[in-house]
Amino acid sequence: MSDTILVTGGSRGIGAATCVAAADAGYSVLVGYTSDADAAAAVVDRCRSLCVDAAAFRGDVSDEESVREMFAAAEALGNLRVLVNNAGILHQQMRFDEMSVDRWRSVFDVNVIGAFLCAREAARRMSTAHGGAGGSIVNVSSTAAYLGSPQEYVDYAASKAAIDTMTIGLGRELAGEGVRVNAVRPGVVRTDIHASGGEPGRAERVGAGVPIGRPGEPGEVAEAILWLASDAASYVTATTLDCSGGR
Ligand code: NAP
Repeated sequence: MSDTILVTGGSRGIGAATCVAAADAGYSVLVGYTSDADAAAAVVDRCRSLCVDAAAFRGDVSDEESVREMFAAAEALGNLRVLVNNAGILHQQMRFDEMSVDRWRSVFDVNVIGAFLCAREAARRMSTAHGGAGGSIVNVSSTAAYLGSPQEYVDYAASKAAIDTMTIGLGRELAGEGVRVNAVRPGVVRTDIHASGGEPGRAERVGAGVPIGRPGEPGEVAEAILWLASDAASYVTATTLDCSGGR
């Protein structure tokens, strides 16, 4: 039975590219998503066309019961070896002093509590202290964690800084228990997420000023995620990898 990878937010953008690259590497793939069933089904089809087992799971990463069910669905595919904590949201660009508490709660619920819930479920299943066979967690952070996203989404940036800190702490906690925990910090990548902030063309605008001269593609981030997940990164844990064109 092949190893299974669970990718939250696997239906679009960076998550979808990660699912397809993982299928190409031979993993069975669980595609997590929350609303766009057609997009998730298309990713499942692409994975199956690469001759691996794949399934989609609809649920909200910020809901504890939903996360438990998602992990059960992943385990039904086979030996769960990798969690990619990729699902993330941001809201309309605005100044910090205009933001509502509801907005902050929504961003932290998905980006922080959601990632924590998934990482906890993974630790309970993968850690040798729990009788697991080991594994790897890759968190998808952002360069926003150190840039702060002024005038845009300071709340989103702060949620990603929390992910960086969780990566260090959980990585060290699980290092002797067969589980590596790392994060990738993408810079500006061409996906739909920028439309959620009210600027669909943001990747092109910001990308022009990136040292490498362009925005990133989802597949370029997927490669970094899969390397961290793989045994090729066997001595890498509790750290973050910037995949940002030098930004
Ligand atoms: P995207 O294209 O907007 O896709 C987001 C994915 O997350 C979708 O599959 C969506 O599912 C899923 N999702 C959203 N809320 C969810 C929830 N509550 N529960 C479960 N799934 C949920 O985003 P992306 O740009 O690929 O971003 C992926 C990750 O990279 C995020 O963590 C983001 O913060 C990070 N990142 C992105 C960039 C960038 O420039 N794109 C830069 C730095 C970091 P549905 O389609 O079903 O809604």
